[in-house]
Order: sequence, then structure tokens, then C-alpha cells
Amino acid sequence: MLATSAPSRRAVVASPLVTALVLPGFVNVHSHTFQRALRGRAAGTDFWAWRETMLAEAERQTPELVRSSYERTYLEMRAAGFTAVGEFHYLGVPEALAAAEAAAAAGLQLVLLHVAYARGGLPRFRQESVESYLAEVEALRSQGLRVGLAPHSVRACPADWLEAIARYAEREDLPLHVHADEQPREIEECLAEHGSRPIELLARTGCLGERTTVIHATHADGAELDLLASSGAAVCACLTTEADLGDGFLPAERIRHRSIPLCIGSDSNVRIDPFEELRELEGIARRQTGRRGVFGTDDLLRFCSETGARALGLADWPEIRIDRDHSSLAGVAEEDILPALVSGCDGSVVLQ
Ligand SMILES: [Zn+2]
Repeated sequence: MLATSAPSRRAVVASPLVTALVLPGFVNVHSHTFQRALRGRAAGTDFWAWRETMLAEAERQTPELVRSSYERTYLEMRAAGFTAVGEFHYLGVPEALAAAEAAAAAGLQLVLLHVAYARGGLPRFRQESVESYLAEVEALRSQGLRVGLAPHSVRACPADWLEAIARYAEREDLPLHVHADEQPREIEECLAEHGSRPIELLARTGCLGERTTVIHATHADGAELDLLASSGAAVCACLTTEADLGDGFLPAERIRHRSIPLCIGSDSNVRIDPFEELRELEGIARRQTGRRGVFGTDDLLRFCSETGARALGLADWPEIRIDRDHSSLAGVAEEDILPALVSGCDGSVVLQ
């Protein structure tokens, strides 16, 4: 079991200058921080054309570039209220160490989700064998990094890699994160190769469990969602990225109905705003059901704090202070503050 303890939900701190509402910090479960550089580029193309632009950006990354550009983006995350991040990292070990330095400089807790990549993508993403991938993970752990296992996807990892990584994650009690069901083409290819859908393959290879987080699950069918629910795995929704890439709609109500834990990630970082992610999530659920308040304010705030921390294996993470005197909250009654925060604010309400 991963730790579930959390800071107290709510407290009000008043000083002569400011009245602040103290909340658990927001947790950004899924980030590819170098992709922040892509915003505005490749607009008007489909996911696969965008991916080509992304690969070119990935190719030019160096430890020096990661160290400087990640710190800038991590500071933006910190300013928006994120106090911990899961960096889904496929750029190599020296760049992983640079990302850790950048996070420390920005005051952000980092869990380095080191990616296993057997095939496809760029040569720099790939390891020769699953043993060499696990040796990289060991090397990062020996440097003191907090790490998780991250087989990139069923596209990038064959079944025997998935099995070996699942065994290691279980033995070492580490988080396991994996992309699945983001695009219909990935499902068709998985069916052609394995005769099963991506989340079914993850179940068969031992990758689903309480320490597992499936990123996206946009096109998961009912049987796949049932597998997530019965295994205790979580889903990380990356709503603004999924909208930007035209991925589709998260099956929000079907996930809620099965009580599958949900958390959020800024993913490609086209936007860095936990409030906007939560509004997208609740907005999709409302449009799908024709009802309001599908998740409820406490649910939504939990998704971007306790559930996210659990997905990253974090027992504690810094709190944030919300500016009670911010213009977005002016005139709002005390009992309406939290709903108003989720429905009508952005990251600028977070005190620095
Ligand atoms: Zn991703």
C-alpha cells in the first residue's frame, strides 16, 4: 500500500496584511516538462503530426537545456499551486539528474518516473534490454532520486518488458505509471499484436495494481475500466493536453461510477493551472451526464492533492496558501469559498 496521509484540509491564517486559506498543495502527477516549448507549434495538425514536432524537440534536449528550461517551468508550476510533480521522463539519465536539480531549485518535490522504451520513438529514448533499463533505475535511486517505473506504453514496450517491470515495481514497492488508450490507433495496433486491448494487456502482464497509474484511459472500454476498478489502479487525466491534442473525452462518469481513483497532470504543459484541469474534468462529466456537481468540490480537490500524492507514493508534500482577498474571491461567503475556488479561479489566487 502506498501512503495516504495528508495535510489537514483547511485552515484560515490571518495576518495584518493578508488572509490566507491553507490547503494541501496540488500534485501534478504527469508532466513532460520539455514539451512546454511546443505550445503554439503544430496547431491545426493531428496527434501523430504533433508527435513528430514533439520528437524533434526531444531530440535537441541536453542536460544544460533541461536544467534551465525545467527550472523555469517548475517555477510556473509552483506559482500555480503545484508543490509536487511526477516527471514522466524519457530523455536519458544525465537529463534526469538535471531535472532533479531543476525541481530542487524551484522548490518542487519531484518523483522521476523513468521511462522504459524498447522500440519506436527516437534512438535516444531506448534501452537495449529491460535489464539495462532497470540498471538505469537503480543508478537513479543510488543518486538519491525518488523514482517510479514507467513503461512508456504498450506501443513502446513488449509483453516481456512489462512483466519484468511489474515484478520489479512490486518487489521494490514503487509506483508504476504507463500511458494507455490515449488514441484509437494505439488500441488497434495492440489488438493486432496481442489480441487484447492495452489495459487488458497491462492486466495480463501483472502491471495493474494499487501502485499503478494509467495515464489518459481516454478510449478505455467497459471491460478495461472494470479491470482498473478491480485492481485498485488509478487514472491520471490530463484534460487540457487531451483537449489540445484532440484525444477525446475522458469517460468521466464511468470512472466515477466504478470509484476508480482519479488524479490530474499537466502533461504537455500547454497550460499550467490545476483549477483549469479540474474545471475541464467536471465540465466533461456535466456534459456527459446532463447533471451539475458530478464530482463535488471535495472530490475535485482530493484528485489534485491526496490522490495525486498517493499515485506518486508521496506521504507528505508542501501546503499552499490561497489569497482570501483575491479579486476572484471578493464577496464570496465563507461557506462558498471552496466551490468558488474550483469553479471560478485560476492559479493567480495562490500566494507566493
Ligand atoms: Zn504523457
